[in-house]
Amino acid sequence: MTQSQRHATHRRPRSAEAPTPDYTLKCEEPNMWPYVIRSLHTGLEDKGGQMLWGYQGQLLVHSGDVVTGAIFKDVDGVYHQVNAKSVIVTAGDFGGNPDMRLDLSDQMRNLAWSRGSDRTDPMATGGMGRDGSGIRMCLWAGATMETGPRPAQSVGINGKPGMAFGGSYPVFGADGKRFMNESLIKHGTNGYLDMLPDGYTMVAVTDNNWETYMSHQGYGHETMDTSSDYMMAEVRENMAAYVTGPDGFPVRSFSRFGIEYSTQLAADTLEEVADIAGYDAEAKANFLAEVARYNEFCTKGHDDDWGCDPQNLLPIKDPPFFFTTGSTGGTPSNGLCQHAGVCTDGKYRVLTAAKAPISGLYAAGNTCGQRMGVHYVTPTAGNSCASALTSGFCAADAVIADSQ
Ligand SMILES: Cc1cc2nc3c(=O)[nH]c(=O)nc-3n(C[C@H](O)[C@H](O)[C@H](O)COP(=O)(O)OP(=O)(O)OC[C@H]3O[C@@H](n4cnc5c(N)ncnc54)[C@H](O)[C@@H]3O)c2cc1C
Repeated sequence: MTQSQRHATHRRPRSAEAPTPDYTLKCEEPNMWPYVIRSLHTGLEDKGGQMLWGYQGQLLVHSGDVVTGAIFKDVDGVYHQVNAKSVIVTAGDFGGNPDMRLDLSDQMRNLAWSRGSDRTDPMATGGMGRDGSGIRMCLWAGATMETGPRPAQSVGINGKPGMAFGGSYPVFGADGKRFMNESLIKHGTNGYLDMLPDGYTMVAVTDNNWETYMSHQGYGHETMDTSSDYMMAEVRENMAAYVTGPDGFPVRSFSRFGIEYSTQLAADTLEEVADIAGYDAEAKANFLAEVARYNEFCTKGHDDDWGCDPQNLLPIKDPPFFFTTGSTGGTPSNGLCQHAGVCTDGKYRVLTAAKAPISGLYAAGNTCGQRMGVHYVTPTAGNSCASALTSGFCAADAVIADSQ
């Protein structure tokens, strides 16, 4: 049997073509978020508050270190001044503003530099996030940014590959050998990946016990939310209908955003994994030896090479083997957003360079700094959203206390 014939082999009979993914949302439960937002708005209006839609903050009204309102531009381009006893700025981060990334994020500047890019060029880095207008408004009113290093969320050049549905599994490099502690989740600065050349191939591998292995994963970014039965049911269904060979098969990617499928690869033997991954003879021999070595570590419960958390040392032994390939490269990015923001005190009051509060000015969420230390970490899912929500609540609490 030739290699390409082997790749085309299906482990179990299936229709000739992979099924067309069904993009219908299968969840019977309502999305809670609109409900939360609506409830908050209703609560505000019940208390006599008013929502002004389509107002973009431009400037804070201030005199010295006292803020008394803000100026907004509405969707028709008309300016409005809203006077207030207190202003809480919750306009997010600056990750979507190339100039601010360059000016304010030492991490981004140096990341570009370390990849040989011009660190004075704002376009040498990329990133998601807001335009930084909230932080700018605070700075113009006398605020200061938190001291560096200024953390971003998922900064770096890339993540290691996982499975279509998420999770962290043993990863083998271009030479077929493991090169890191995979129990460190995919998210974050990924310093080890930033050391690798562009185009460095990585192969993540698990086996038929993927669901057991997934239950050992840290709960957080890139790991599937296993608490939702309808998600698990669909992933199980997709995985049970696996197809071996280089074309892979679709698996619903609940670890990502929206309703989308990713291609998952499968093979009956580790030799086939190596062939499909494109390993040459030497890398293939390394890979097979490395899997055997890894499995020995699993048996003795200690990773002598990379110190993987023993609870994540689960062998790669039972076919079919599931795997995903990926490679490093692309523009250095701040990832999802920047977490660096303006200095505040314990009551979320925005501080001047003298570390004195600017009267009437508060910041929360990504506009507010010092929330993540030197680095964004995700020991739990939603760490960033939760921290933004909680700081908003605390800032509002402080405003109420301060205005009494
Ligand atoms: C793709 C992606 C995936 C993410 N995944 C996760 C995750 O899984 N878990 C997690 O915890 N975090 C995640 N994050 C990060 C998280 O979304 C943010 O950290 C969090 O939303 C910050 O909340 P915030 O309220 O401070 O700011 P934002 O959510 O950014 O909200 C800022 C708001 O202010 C508005 N605004 C901005 N400028 C102005 C202005 N000048 N005038 C008026 N309004 C303005 C914006 O329109 C927006 O509505 C993700 C981020 C991205 C981009």
